[in-house]
Amino acid sequence: MREHPYYWDDPLKERFDITIDSIIEANGYTYVKILENVVKPSGGGQAGDRGRIEIDGTAYEFMDTVLLDNVPMLQMKDTPPIRGNAVLAIDMVWRGAMMSNHTSEHLFVGTVKKKHPDIELGRIWIDGNRGAVELEGRSLTIEEVLEAESQVQKHIEQAIPVKTEVTSARDIDESVRTREGVTSKHDIIRIVRVGDLDSSACAGIHVTNTREICVFKVVDFKSRDKDTHIEFLSGSRAVESLCCVYNAALLRKYSYPFELEQLGAVLDKAKSLQTAHEESLQKIIQLMTDGPHKEQMGSIRFWYEYLPGMDAGSMRSVMKQLPEIERSTTLLFAPGPKSSFILWTKSMPKDASYYIQEPVLELGGHGGGSKESFTGGFADVKNALDLYQQLVEKVRKRISGI
Ligand SMILES: [Zn+2]
Repeated sequence: MREHPYYWDDPLKERFDITIDSIIEANGYTYVKILENVVKPSGGGQAGDRGRIEIDGTAYEFMDTVLLDNVPMLQMKDTPPIRGNAVLAIDMVWRGAMMSNHTSEHLFVGTVKKKHPDIELGRIWIDGNRGAVELEGRSLTIEEVLEAESQVQKHIEQAIPVKTEVTSARDIDESVRTREGVTSKHDIIRIVRVGDLDSSACAGIHVTNTREICVFKVVDFKSRDKDTHIEFLSGSRAVESLCCVYNAALLRKYSYPFELEQLGAVLDKAKSLQTAHEESLQKIIQLMTDGPHKEQMGSIRFWYEYLPGMDAGSMRSVMKQLPEIERSTTLLFAPGPKSSFILWTKSMPKDASYYIQEPVLELGGHGGGSKESFTGGFADVKNALDLYQQLVEKVRKRISGI
């Protein structure tokens, strides 16, 4: 048997003449043991090889390769009928994606550690679909993660060679990233170097040049107290995902409509509309339960409403549709970081500005109007409900002439 597994030296060789040594049942699966050291078992946070065994023109698929009692075993989907000679074909789509995802992990972790030496690599998971890493020590912000992503993409385009060498564990120095206990468990260590960017002890499979990765994309991020969980895609899966997200926006561009560069602003607007919608529902419940806020002050009717989710334009439209009441003052208030209001008077003794201009100025707002109406707003509002209640109280005093 070879000293090192075949995929250490030539990860692109995909067909091997093999000998099936035994077929066993365990853990509810059928496993095949072969005599040659040619398939990569799962371990160290990386999935195993997939592929098929061919016997007399019939293919028998294996879905994973695992270590059972330290021996690589093929976990079969279809059980081959005989022991003896066969051909093993590696699923190179799965393996190629693992090589790309795994080298991306080296590049990403190496890039993060160069900028943030206090961060340590925790658990990882790499398979032919995606990669995931836990970065420990302290939590990273999404901006720091995306900056590292951008650096990784530059390194991919720089076409950096990925080299491996096998050396004695005693010769490993601090420039090589090693997982805890690796140098004491093994006499011989394989070092994987991505240019000057990253050197780590690793038994996995990698591309031979960063350009083979093509694209690296972080697709999920969770920041916790003292660590950060990051999921990523690379290669054609990253391209598929990027196209899928881009096209989801493109399909809505003309019916919405919006410019793609404005997608962030569109999402922000959707979030604020959702909040406004929930507040509007609360307002409807209040109106149905308590009725409108109307007070009879002598011969004058004072009507005031707090209307979340509205803006100045929609309040004007509401105002026009309200029933005409002789001798009335109506105040509508739309809350928000920028709150706006409209005051409408009917047959009042004085102009609209008399009832509201001074209160608005006292509360730090602005506005202007005509004889019967006065509109305006407030900027940088922290507590809109409190502001509204103060404004109502001040207008009430002006109407009652106190
Ligand atoms: Zn590796």
